[in-house]
Amino acid sequence: PVYLDHNATTAPAPEAVEAMLQALRQDWANPSSMHAPGQAARQRLGAARAALARVIGCQPAELVFTSGATESNHAAVLGALSRGRALGRTRLLLSAVEHPGLLGLAERLRAQGTPVDLLPVDARGVVDVDAAARLIGPDVALLSVMAANNETGVCMPLQALSVLARAHGVPFHVDATQALGKCTLRFDASGADLWSVSAHKLHGPKGVGALVIRKGLDWPPLIGGRQERHRRGGTENAPGIAGFAAAATRVAATLEADLPRIQGLRDRLAQRLRQRVPALVVFGEGAPRLPNTLGLRFGTLDAERVLHALEREGIVASSGAACAAGGTEPSAVLLAMGCTPHEARAGIRFSLGRDTTDTDIARTLAAVERAIVPLLAELAAAA
Ligand code: PMP
Repeated sequence: PVYLDHNATTAPAPEAVEAMLQALRQDWANPSSMHAPGQAARQRLGAARAALARVIGCQPAELVFTSGATESNHAAVLGALSRGRALGRTRLLLSAVEHPGLLGLAERLRAQGTPVDLLPVDARGVVDVDAAARLIGPDVALLSVMAANNETGVCMPLQALSVLARAHGVPFHVDATQALGKCTLRFDASGADLWSVSAHKLHGPKGVGALVIRKGLDWPPLIGGRQERHRRGGTENAPGIAGFAAAATRVAATLEADLPRIQGLRDRLAQRLRQRVPALVVFGEGAPRLPNTLGLRFGTLDAERVLHALEREGIVASSGAACAAGGTEPSAVLLAMGCTPHEARAGIRFSLGRDTTDTDIARTLAAVERAIVPLLAELAAAA
């Protein structure tokens, strides 16, 4: 099929697979072992850390490997609460459009008594900096706002938020999972103190990611143990980390050429769809957005119907909505942007990647013509 779901995950790059196989076949010893094979594995781990730090824009010593962005996000929030206890900083401040894993954690913490404030977004999906200025205070343990939203691709005003956080002595966590490899944003230029990333969003393996912790920031261990400078215990996922580094290196090498091409395809898709479907609404228009993401709705045509119709035509995309028993929950991101539940249930996401071709876009447009335009006509006739 034509794969337009790169924000969900991406195909492992051949370079990543090769690096993983080498780590599995040759350097499989424990990097903590003192013998020569252990030291060889340790060396490989160090090389991967250095390569990734270059791509992310941090120092190698600031990088802590994790099992993925969900763990990194948890480590940021739970670490902040643990660190904040002694400082009288007990409240969490995060945007209303964070990843469900992070919002779910905040919800559970709230139920256990942790004060949580959610920052609203405007109709484009951009976090309200004025609201952040009103809500931040000396009792805040962490400000957490993503770099770019996974459903809409909308990029957040990190600079303004980081200035605000710094002025109040609040650690600033950025979930950069969707930004790494999809824009030129780097940790060192962002003003963030903590930075979550995940390998599988940029053609690396699943189950590996990192939390960048700014040098000098006193942070509790994520998981007990001696590895990762006592910050995240457990024998390192050396093959995963090697794959992550290889994938990131490959992405960085071709990013400047890939991004304009991907954006060109995305914009052409949007423009042609708009010509064909007057009821089309593109989410986040007018806001800075990732070049690969096109969040939209075909009027109020239900996303589930659209996605099934497209898949029958060989096109796979996704909706932001989580399928729950007994129906589809409308996307929390779209609701936060002011969509009605009916509109939010119509939200579709096309996310392109470096393997997306002109032909893929042409096939998508043809599929919409064959499968979606008649559904819209049906809907209009029934109204
Ligand atoms: N944050 C964002 C913004 C994401 O898009 C995702 C992946 N859907 C995650 C976190 C979770 O990443 P992982 O799969 O590595 O846990």
